Amino acid sequence: MTARIIDGKTIAAELRTRIATDVTQLKAAHGMTPGLAVVLVGANPASEVYVRNKSKAVTGAGMTPIDRHLPESVSEAELLALIASLNADPTVNGILVQLPLPPQIDGQKVIAAIDPAKDVDGFHPLNVGRLGSGLPALVPCTPLGCVILAKTVLPSLAGLEAVVIGRSNIVGKPVAQLLLAENATVTVAHSRTRDLAAVCRRADVLIAAIGKPEFVRADWIKPGATVIDVGINRVPGEAGKSKIVGDVAYAEASAVAGAITPVPGGVGPMTIACLILNTLRATCAQNGLPAPAI
Ligand code: NAD
Repeated sequence: MTARIIDGKTIAAELRTRIATDVTQLKAAHGMTPGLAVVLVGANPASEVYVRNKSKAVTGAGMTPIDRHLPESVSEAELLALIASLNADPTVNGILVQLPLPPQIDGQKVIAAIDPAKDVDGFHPLNVGRLGSGLPALVPCTPLGCVILAKTVLPSLAGLEAVVIGRSNIVGKPVAQLLLAENATVTVAHSRTRDLAAVCRRADVLIAAIGKPEFVRADWIKPGATVIDVGINRVPGEAGKSKIVGDVAYAEASAVAGAITPVPGGVGPMTIACLILNTLRATCAQNGLPAPAI
């Protein structure tokens, strides 16, 4: 068997185009332009690249990027004051604080200070609780992207065995909640799971969010399963250059899986597309408009 490749780049581009169309209609019908504030603290090169890419995608969707760059030395009180001013600003519909934050700042305190209605990362405890309770919520972008990708090949996940490897607050736990909401039978595996390979072999849908290069091998995969690889791992490549690989041994897994996301070009592009989607959803909810049908 050769797996169908789930082309995240194309699926994300289509999603961004649909969002841009909705934004055009929102402007025409209601005179509203969604605004996304991205707060970056310090000069972490990887974070700077992410923030630049986010700004580009926001502009591409016809939304307004509001970038706030603070020095590494900023105090927690100064950052909280900025969050309070963004919460109060009606032109700001979404707020994202790029993580990680420097050690003098309590990240949980900052996340809890964001207005839950503007929490487009879905990390605020209220949104986490709403997701767990099956209530409408802003949900984390990467997990949302994983489920959208899985549903391009499996329109219904109801009754399927889903195994998530990883239990982080950013990926593992929220993706498990989203899969439960789709009526899958969900197992969350992690570093203390016994016989991980046997647990994975039960999965009709396998989601790997571990952070270990090519950790999931072909013989862990049930023939025909859908494999969503969240991992982003930089490893030595050819001619002294580095390359990015996922958490799944892609070449060998492709011979067993029914469908699989590549790395790069799978989950990664969906994360930013879902951030734009969350910004649109937040804007609609704040203004009493129905959620976009995407
Ligand atoms: P994390 O380090 O917070 O969590 C990793 C999880 O893997 C933990 O819950 C741990 O229990 C589990 N784990 C570790 N070793 C294990 C083992 N030997 N067996 C089973 N489980 C094990 O990482 P994270 O933030 O959830 O990210 C996971 C991966 O996804 C990373 O590679 C990260 O770069 C990537 N990521 C990608 C995107 C994207 O946009 N594509 C977004 C977020 C994270």
